[in-house]
Amino acid sequence: MNTPVYMDNHATTPMDPRVLEAMLPYFTEKFGNAASRNHSFGWEAEAAVDEARERIARLIHASSSKEIIFTSGATESDNLAIKGIAESFEEKGNHIVTCVTEHKAVLDTCKALERRGYNVTYLPVDQYGLVDPEQLCEAITDRTILISLMAANNEIGTIHPIKIIGRLAKEKGIIFHCDATQGVGKIPMSVEEMGIDLLSMSGHKIYGPKGIGALYVRSKKPKVRLSPIIDGGGHERGMRSGTLNVPGIVGFGKACEICQQELPKEAACLTRLRERLKEGIFSQLDEVYVNGHPTQRLPGNMNISFAYVEGESLLMALKEIAVSSGSACTSATLEPSYVLRALGIEEDLAHTSIRFGLGRFNTEEEVDYTTRRVVQEVSRLRDLSPLYELAKADLRKKQRDEEKIQGRFS
Ligand SMILES: *Cc1c(COP(=O)(O)O)cnc(C)c1O
Repeated sequence: MNTPVYMDNHATTPMDPRVLEAMLPYFTEKFGNAASRNHSFGWEAEAAVDEARERIARLIHASSSKEIIFTSGATESDNLAIKGIAESFEEKGNHIVTCVTEHKAVLDTCKALERRGYNVTYLPVDQYGLVDPEQLCEAITDRTILISLMAANNEIGTIHPIKIIGRLAKEKGIIFHCDATQGVGKIPMSVEEMGIDLLSMSGHKIYGPKGIGALYVRSKKPKVRLSPIIDGGGHERGMRSGTLNVPGIVGFGKACEICQQELPKEAACLTRLRERLKEGIFSQLDEVYVNGHPTQRLPGNMNISFAYVEGESLLMALKEIAVSSGSACTSATLEPSYVLRALGIEEDLAHTSIRFGLGRFNTEEEVDYTTRRVVQEVSRLRDLSPLYELAKADLRKKQRDEEKIQGRFS
């Protein structure tokens, strides 16, 4: 086994070698511009783009590949979806419904719109990170133009009931955008079955290249009209101008094809690895807590709080394992994750959380190594913690008192 071990697959995934192989010719001899309509270099590039579009459409069960608009990644897709609808539906209304645990690409886009006079409702979540569809219903007004809700959360892995939300949006006649960046390729996603009108996705979260993504834009029932945020040559049906990133698109398409073929097997394998990691840790440590939903979560996601251990200290101690902590370093202060705080997790406990993001290339050996090292380091750090000692002493006293009470009554 090689170190460092990479277990941060929600931040980005390593590129699959099959993806790189598919891309290489498009950096060299097949360098054409897909918009060049008058020679074979252009036709060759256009054909490659068309094939990638088909593969991407197939993975999310879009009815036509024309509904795929290429972008630079999910951040741009989220911006295009939300700002694009806000602008083109300006006449109809100015209210957007989203959720407090969304990715910053959605939250900050909504905040920017608020500064321009739009109203945004940020729905709360329960202890598992789930929105309540009834609450969503109540938030809708006759000025509501968009519902934006992610498929799966990038920190805690919680999977939203997208089909229910989609049906609700349909009933109310409101456009439904889904940031499915973490869901696509990991769990079955179908824009038709789930009633999704706009769907954001990204290449580098599914073993493809960075800097390429897509927005699915429904073309019938209803035909969704978006205002562009980038003007130019009118590429991508006028919704996103700019010369297409052909090698990136080819790689993205290949990544989608592989995901489609391997999804059921890979999801089962990752779920097994995830549970093995969890059981290994939980059987050897006390005062550990799972963040997110126990079962309704991404196959590769395990987010755990290790009480009495600073996540950052743990990360430092585990330098040979690449994972993320639930604290975000913003300038000078260490803020606990807003996602964990939204679940009602106390600030102290939020600071002790670690996100394990398992992916396609992780092995059982790596999981066992990680388990061993985490148990070692958490135990060591707790031995140094006066708070942990106090808590343990408290617990022992409580147990003794209970035993005394039981002794009196038996
Ligand atoms: C990574 C991520 C994004 C941003 O994607 P980029 O392609 O890196 O811009 C947006 N939403 C979610 C849920 C993500 O995980």
